[in-house]
Amino acid sequence: MNDNLLNNSIDYLNGLGPVKADLLRTELKIFTWGDLLTHFPIRYIDRTQFYKVRDLKHNLLSAQIKGRLTLLKEEGIGRKTRLKGYFQDETGGVELVWFAGIKWIKANLKVGGEYVIFGKPSVFNQKFTFSHPELTPLLEFVNQKQMKLQPVYSTTEKLKKKGIDSKGFIKLLRNLFFQLGVQNIAEILPLTLRNEYQLIERSAAFKQIHFPTTQQEVKTAQYRLKFEELMILQIKIINAKLQTSKSVVGPVFKAVGLFFNQFYNKCLPFELTGAQKRVLKEIRKDTVSGLQMNRLIQGDVGSGKTLVALMSLLLSVDNGFQGALMAPTEILAQQHFETVKEFLKGLDLEVALLTGSTKKADRIEIDEKLRTGSISILIGTHALIEDKVVFKKLGLAVIDEQHRFGVAQRYQLWKKGSIAPHILVMTATPIPRTLAMTVYGDLDTSVIDELPPGRKPISTKHFFDNQRLAVLGFMKEQIKLGRQIYVVYPLIEESEAMDYKDLMDGYESLSRYFPIPEYQISVVHGRMKPDDKAFEMKRFEEGTTQIMVATTVIEVGVNVPNASVMVIESAERFGLSQLHQLRGRVGRGSNQSYCILMTGSKLGKEAKTRMSTMVGTTDGFKIAEVDLKLRGPGDIAGTRQSGLLDLKLASLVEDSGIIAVVRQEAKRILEQDPDLNQEENQSLRTHLKSIQDQQVNWGRIS
Ligand code: ADP
Ligand code: MG
Repeated sequence: MNDNLLNNSIDYLNGLGPVKADLLRTELKIFTWGDLLTHFPIRYIDRTQFYKVRDLKHNLLSAQIKGRLTLLKEEGIGRKTRLKGYFQDETGGVELVWFAGIKWIKANLKVGGEYVIFGKPSVFNQKFTFSHPELTPLLEFVNQKQMKLQPVYSTTEKLKKKGIDSKGFIKLLRNLFFQLGVQNIAEILPLTLRNEYQLIERSAAFKQIHFPTTQQEVKTAQYRLKFEELMILQIKIINAKLQTSKSVVGPVFKAVGLFFNQFYNKCLPFELTGAQKRVLKEIRKDTVSGLQMNRLIQGDVGSGKTLVALMSLLLSVDNGFQGALMAPTEILAQQHFETVKEFLKGLDLEVALLTGSTKKADRIEIDEKLRTGSISILIGTHALIEDKVVFKKLGLAVIDEQHRFGVAQRYQLWKKGSIAPHILVMTATPIPRTLAMTVYGDLDTSVIDELPPGRKPISTKHFFDNQRLAVLGFMKEQIKLGRQIYVVYPLIEESEAMDYKDLMDGYESLSRYFPIPEYQISVVHGRMKPDDKAFEMKRFEEGTTQIMVATTVIEVGVNVPNASVMVIESAERFGLSQLHQLRGRVGRGSNQSYCILMTGSKLGKEAKTRMSTMVGTTDGFKIAEVDLKLRGPGDIAGTRQSGLLDLKLASLVEDSGIIAVVRQEAKRILEQDPDLNQEENQSLRTHLKSIQDQQVNWGRIS
């Protein structure tokens, strides 16, 4: 067998001249026989199915009908001449129309004859009309060996003009299979795997996907080829990870020492959840291994990630290293700082805060103390990764809210120690698990899938703007009970001025409904100075104000257990994960909490789905699944680098089941045979090497 033939240039394909070959290259990036082979059909027209005239619908892509041609007549004169026909089955009739080739058609069609017509029906004068339909005499259709499942290929206008439409592709692929010989498509998956998952042979799969005779054949071929595509991707990702985890030396946290134990026994006001304990164990295991840890903690809002991070930082300190905690915004860094200080009260260790607005004198002092090592834990924003920040001995860096930090920034932290510090990434936005394993392929993943006990599920309701009075009344009741309320407005950069106006208008009408001195309202938005923001936040945290009107600056990090109502204005303008984040700001205390989504009365289909999803569930992972379906994988951080968007056949949304299985199998294969030396894995290795070489080659050319 010879897989190399698939690397042949399409220049060597029969029936393809240089002009068309060039077009295939520039329009669709089809360079080789292999590229053509993997230009898969996007759907199939089922020519085994017949429509009855009665059942025709608007917007059908195509329809096939069996019946009788009952009339043919020419209409109009000169250049406006056209040929009209009438076609009937036992349930009704449709019109046929031709604007060209009239003579030939008249000579070849028989009025009164039985035919199968095929084409796209459109509605004209309230009748279904087929223009330039395909007509095949019924007898011929029955005897014909023509493909009953016709593949449809994606193509472009330029290619179509040169005859490379779906039919053109079918011809090219016929030639390809003829020249190539099916036996020259080498199998690459190990036999045991194929047996276990009932995967048909590779050559058969390629043949069947382009020339199927039944829907079942399409399915088995697609399944086999998706499996292969995902297997290759997973092997690449897992290999890349093995490379780094094998090579990078990390600090060793041998002891669980004084600080950790003191904290655990004296400061921790509650029991850790099972999930928190499990994740801590995973981190322990990583940090004694001698290799650098790169771990992602996924967990829903409020699941207690920050606490796990803090305890990991104590481990670092216990072992003579410093620790850093990096947050994406000033407010969040500030918040973390307060929380950590509060938690660590009574422990004899120094925690400092470093952000863009740290005063110069303080900054000098912090720099000095970092260098000597008297600061044990540094909390901050991006300022923390600047080159001039020098640690004595950084052992662990925690990054909160991964979605705003790129790989490059993570890398910058590595450079901060003579040994690369351990990296712990926390994301507050759950993403579907199968996707996480792949997108964060270079990270090990831990999941905190359990909320601290005693949390009452947040009750979520959707209201239209014209029901506002009822909502205001509800707010008043809650305030009477002593609760606090967030009212959040969207902030979109392009229309910042308008958003600002919405916010201020909202604030004013709220002030009328909740007048001073009985009520106090805080406002926080992006145009305020950091000091003013902090001041307003503080007033709310202390309970001086009952209502906090804000833009999405409060999205992350605010922790006010007494706040029990989250009102989200223009909720239709927020994405699902953002809505979920915002909702996570309430429900942190023991009171029943509420999330109120306010929208206009006219909502698009997608916005309706978002609202009903929020009302229907509080499970961040479920929400993430819906979000992925709505937005597609392109919008999820990290997918671009992971190569997931280059998949030709498999879909991240529909094939998560296959992804999970393949991931597990790829891991097993590489654990048992890291270099793919075993007999059974040889062909897989050869294939991986050949695609690698090929990528290098094309890279050099283009
Ligand atoms: P996350 O960072 O995952 O959003 P946090 O670590 O901020 O969650 O925790 C949310 C709240 O729950 C905090 O007030 C925290 O003190 C509290 N918390 C964390 N772990 C527990 C636990 N095991 N039991 C009770 N409360 C907890
Ligand atoms: Mg948090």
